[in-house]
Amino acid sequence: MSLKKETYDVIILGAGVAGISAAVHSIGRGLRPLVIESTANIGGRARSFEDRVSGDIIDNGQHVMMGCYESFFHVLTKLGTMKRVKKQEFLSIPFYFPDGRRDLLHAKGIGNMHGPLGMALGFMKLSFLSWKEKRSLLYFAFRLKLGMCKPGSMTAMELLLSESQSKRIIDLVWTPVILATMNGKPEEVSAKIFITVLRLAFFGSGDASTLYIPQCGLSELFEPFQEWLEKQGGLLIQSNGIDRLHIVDDRIKGVYLQDGMYIESKQVISAIPPHSLVKVLPETSISLSYISQLNAIQYSPIISLYLWFDRPFPAIDIAAIMEASTQWVFQKTTKMRDGSSLLALTISAGNDIIHSSTEELAHACATEIRLCFPEMNDAQLLHWKVIKERMATVLIDPDTENARLNSTTPITGLLLAGDWTNTGLPATLESAALSGKLAASLL
Ligand SMILES: Cc1cc2nc3c(=O)[nH]c(=O)nc-3n(C[C@H](O)[C@H](O)[C@H](O)COP(=O)(O)OP(=O)(O)OC[C@H]3O[C@@H](n4cnc5c(N)ncnc54)[C@H](O)[C@@H]3O)c2cc1C
Repeated sequence: MSLKKETYDVIILGAGVAGISAAVHSIGRGLRPLVIESTANIGGRARSFEDRVSGDIIDNGQHVMMGCYESFFHVLTKLGTMKRVKKQEFLSIPFYFPDGRRDLLHAKGIGNMHGPLGMALGFMKLSFLSWKEKRSLLYFAFRLKLGMCKPGSMTAMELLLSESQSKRIIDLVWTPVILATMNGKPEEVSAKIFITVLRLAFFGSGDASTLYIPQCGLSELFEPFQEWLEKQGGLLIQSNGIDRLHIVDDRIKGVYLQDGMYIESKQVISAIPPHSLVKVLPETSISLSYISQLNAIQYSPIISLYLWFDRPFPAIDIAAIMEASTQWVFQKTTKMRDGSSLLALTISAGNDIIHSSTEELAHACATEIRLCFPEMNDAQLLHWKVIKERMATVLIDPDTENARLNSTTPITGLLLAGDWTNTGLPATLESAALSGKLAASLL
């Protein structure tokens, strides 16, 4: 392929959510982006594929969004795929325990006012918390709302203990929230980001806490991207990644592709993860200090399981599983062709069990499902698939949060995007989309 010099205003590395968002916002600024993706897929970690045995489409891991995902929804709106995501009316999560107990968080406010009031009313009705625990939880929420909690360089656990949250509240309420939104354990993750999550999502106004669940494979959310991009004068190159950035005198000059092609450009947005960026940065004196910062970044795993059972599952889209290895279960479709069911299970920050065999994990989680849902008591597991993403997201501990890299770099013309960059958010779809917007705003 030959590309005319200066045809494109900016080269974007990676067609994950950050790269797609950077392209959308570059176009919004009247620029023509060239997006270069090393694989044959777009969407990055948010992608889906066909399970070879069943022929069903499954995701690289179940993804959920919240009403506060403004930047991510902007991207879906541009691509016309917002309708492929189902919005809950208000945050509603059933809880299931393996000993048969059940509960329901129904964060319904008054009229359409579901925000903090709905959340407070929802927590008040939970039966697995005592009145004393509810009071302590509300007092913490109240202090948060008034900006009275000072996270400093604490971990979320240190903050919770300093706010007199009991071990039981931490185990039953805060740990599931932290695992789901930050993919880390309370004793690992930054209290600063934890507070941001609570303020934006759980105590944010309007629909901020409402869950949005994709009704299609994740790749389908981004499927119109290539055509949309090309209509706007941009271009997507796939299956041919960046081999090396060309940097002279701390200025970006262009990029070398894996097939040997060279493309000149004065502006490049890198929207690839830190472990990929280290591989493409040449070892100049400036990038050496960058490389050591990138190498210091830690990751946290997510284990995703897909279980096919021989009978229908109760009519629920999502459930939190308590006091078990499984953390969340999602029903992938309520109408399987033969009366069977397909469930997606999620285990965030599963460092303790990631070394178990996939077979062990599948059977252990299937047992938990049978215990939590009596309807599945003697259900047969027909087929299973376990996906272990060891580097699912960066682990944002207090040190990492203080050292997160900004969109600008010491290399003129090189900007950074990606869920791991300094967006002030946990490493999520929203952080990725926001990072692309921030980088494009600096072009
Ligand atoms: C199992 C799992 C479950 C998750 N669940 C949720 C969830 O429920 N909600 C949520 O908000 N977030 C969730 N996340 C996080 C979310 O997927 C990520 O935050 C987001 O997708 C990151 O997007 P990104 O564009 O920053 O990076 P990536 O998705 O990693 O995209 C980077 C892209 O760059 C490409 N690339 C790499 N090297 C090169 C190169 N040299 N040249 C060209 N291209 C290159 C890669 O192939 C990739 O396509 C989950 C993640 C995982 C793994």
